[in-house]
Amino acid sequence: MVPPGSKETSVTGLRSTIIRGGLESLYFTGAHLALRPFVEGVGAILTLHHVRPPRPDRFQPNRLLEVTPRFFVRVIKLLRRSGVDLVSLDEVYRRLRERDFRRRFVCLTFDDGYRDVLQFAYPALKEAAVPFAVYVATSFADRLGELWWLVLEAVIARNEHIGLQIDGRNRTFSCRTLAEKRALYDELYWWLRRRPTDADMRAVVRDLAACYRVDIAAFCKDLCMSWEELAVLAADPLVTIGAHTVHHPMLAKLPTEAARAEMDLSRSVIEAALAVRPQHLSYPVGDRTSAGAREFAIAAELGFKTAVTTRPGVLFPEHRDHLMALPRISLNGDYQRLRYVRVLLSGSATAMWNGFRHVEAA
Ligand SMILES: [Zn+2]
Repeated sequence: MVPPGSKETSVTGLRSTIIRGGLESLYFTGAHLALRPFVEGVGAILTLHHVRPPRPDRFQPNRLLEVTPRFFVRVIKLLRRSGVDLVSLDEVYRRLRERDFRRRFVCLTFDDGYRDVLQFAYPALKEAAVPFAVYVATSFADRLGELWWLVLEAVIARNEHIGLQIDGRNRTFSCRTLAEKRALYDELYWWLRRRPTDADMRAVVRDLAACYRVDIAAFCKDLCMSWEELAVLAADPLVTIGAHTVHHPMLAKLPTEAARAEMDLSRSVIEAALAVRPQHLSYPVGDRTSAGAREFAIAAELGFKTAVTTRPGVLFPEHRDHLMALPRISLNGDYQRLRYVRVLLSGSATAMWNGFRHVEAA
């Protein structure tokens, strides 16, 4: 039982407190400036998901995936002011290949294909003439996708108890208070992420959705761009349409042929729908449990120019030899402060997280 108003110490909460503390101290001690010449690399690729107005709900475990339009515009202005080149993925590819590092560069990317990118990010990007990429999971645009992290959020938000079979045992979890909901979300989210196969994870989520009457497909319709909406972006030379697989699986948990088909087929579906063949790929989820050496090799075989992970980091000249394993800097909704963006782009935070290694491509 947690007294009302007390700050619960969920694992995620604790972790974000530590990360925030690290970003703050790097900023306020000036360490990010001192470290910068050694760690800033040659450029960076930013990861975004949603750009939309803040919502009042107190239970928003996926809020890290969204920034507000106001913060987004401030980031664009910061980038413009700081004198970096804002470039497309093709230009990132060219600069890495040709070792053209005369000017620092930043590339903006959006994963999944949410409608709010068209509504709230696109007008600001167009006005400032900033190129950007949208990585489309084709089942989302086809209205057949499973945004399972939102299913889990909805089930916990709308219920006071959840029954679930875990390791062959029926368990019941209480999720009456905000603190219980947050703790349960963390527990079940990471338990699902640890399932040995993608099919295992999806079976649990489908059971939960059926049992607690959550319409899985509705999330696609409500939140993701249709092909018609994507066509508006695809027609703009500022926009690169990238591939993000068909079903948005954790590729490393699929058999090899299935992983290859997910990457290859999504490219063909996008080409059929939008008449552009994606040359750039983003691995769904994108951490090392979702994309590793096998996936990097498949992406190379399939002929993608670049493929991005969510492994945190800025770009170094060495990434020329690891174009299928590019790191990114996530603009996380839990850290909407320009000073955090400055610290992240300085490379100092990710250098510390990565033990000062430039490339993490294994
Ligand atoms: Zn994604």
